[in-house]
Amino acid sequence: MNNFDLAQRDLAVLWHPCTQMKDHEQYPVIPIKKGQGVWLEDYDGNRYLDAISSWWVNLFGHANPIINAAIKDQLDHIEHLIFAGFTHEAGIKLAEQLVAITPSGLNRCFYADNGSSAVEVALKMSFHYWRNIGQIQKTKFITLENSYHGETLGALAVGNVALYKATYAPLLMEVITVPGPDCYYRETGESWATYSERRFELMEQALQRHAGSVCAVIIEPLVQCAGNMRMYDAVYVKRLREACDKYHVHLIADEIAVGFGRTGSLFACEQAAISPDFMCLSKGLTGGYLPLSAVLTTDEIYQAFYQDYSTLNAFLHSHSYTGNALACRAALATIEIFQQNDILVKNQVLAKTMAAVAMRFHEHPQVAEVRQTGMILAIELVKNKQTREPYPWQQRRGLKVYQYALANGVLLRPLGNVIYFMPPYVITETELEWLAEVAWQGIKRAVED
Ligand SMILES: *Cc1c(COP(=O)(O)O)cnc(C)c1O
Repeated sequence: MNNFDLAQRDLAVLWHPCTQMKDHEQYPVIPIKKGQGVWLEDYDGNRYLDAISSWWVNLFGHANPIINAAIKDQLDHIEHLIFAGFTHEAGIKLAEQLVAITPSGLNRCFYADNGSSAVEVALKMSFHYWRNIGQIQKTKFITLENSYHGETLGALAVGNVALYKATYAPLLMEVITVPGPDCYYRETGESWATYSERRFELMEQALQRHAGSVCAVIIEPLVQCAGNMRMYDAVYVKRLREACDKYHVHLIADEIAVGFGRTGSLFACEQAAISPDFMCLSKGLTGGYLPLSAVLTTDEIYQAFYQDYSTLNAFLHSHSYTGNALACRAALATIEIFQQNDILVKNQVLAKTMAAVAMRFHEHPQVAEVRQTGMILAIELVKNKQTREPYPWQQRRGLKVYQYALANGVLLRPLGNVIYFMPPYVITETELEWLAEVAWQGIKRAVED
């Protein structure tokens, strides 16, 4: 078997996610034979450094021996079973762990099987909570400009990336969209904190005006990942928590991408020293092994559903693969790796190295900004550095970086014209240096002509 044959068979029957399939007339789809650590290897023996953690899910490398062993052991006991009326040890232990490691007050864990579903659960639970306590006028959600919460219709509705959303607008519930704190737009010399604080006024106004009809505000704390890795200061999250309390509105923290150490703390909310009413987790939850998600919430919310059956107040939401035992076991192994290896401390060093290897991009004539939060570093390519005029999207400059990087052994998958590094936490300093060099060369070619 080789790359070409597999790619042919693939294109005959498959339809890939988030892809204009016609692009594959020009760019081959790459069949991967195996993975090891940060490396992926195809059927022709080419290796690729997985600099984006396989779409932000992988934390401790491919074929991680600890996670592999945990799943193999679980396989010999129970792979999966109905999670209503029945339970299993891995699911219980994981919920105990999640309650222990997430911010205080989050004492209940509801499982789903992917990020979008977790967002749907949080939205429905919030709405349903207000209904159960008699506040039936609360039916709306507040969301931030440039936010992303997944692709199912509810999750898409509370997101705000036009590329994914616009086509489906007629199908989506209406939401209240508030201009965001994206610090790319701060004034020269203005700090992230000052700008974030200043932009919060718009959120405060929206809450003041709409709180009576609003169930919850949903945000991605600190980094809007799918929205081109735009970043903001924790003070915004802090102010939002205060305002949500003041106006009796829930705060949903979508930590699907930023959770599990990505922003420097285990959860991004920690940097604002707050607890949300709902926290959505997925992606890194299983170390990038298996689909699983969890919604953590409070006793207060749980209690509003805890009544006699005849009240018909129960949360009758389920997914067939809710709480999959193999996935729960992979998640337990992932948390164990965090706890036994001082990962957050090690990541501080890695994050500094990432900053260092990316130093030279600051001065690049086609780079408007290099920004970083923990283990996420983004490089914003523009046509004009002074005016920040972007390249016309039709030129697909980012795609050129992608192609160059692939041909040179690195998997980068730019978001439009934003090149970013979001590697597994097992990447080495040497690999980071090399990654930056390949990105540099890729950008050099992408901005020619
Ligand atoms: C990826 C992502 C989702 C959706 O998760 P899926 O598992 O892809 O459905 C939701 N929110 C954020 C912030 C994400 O990055």
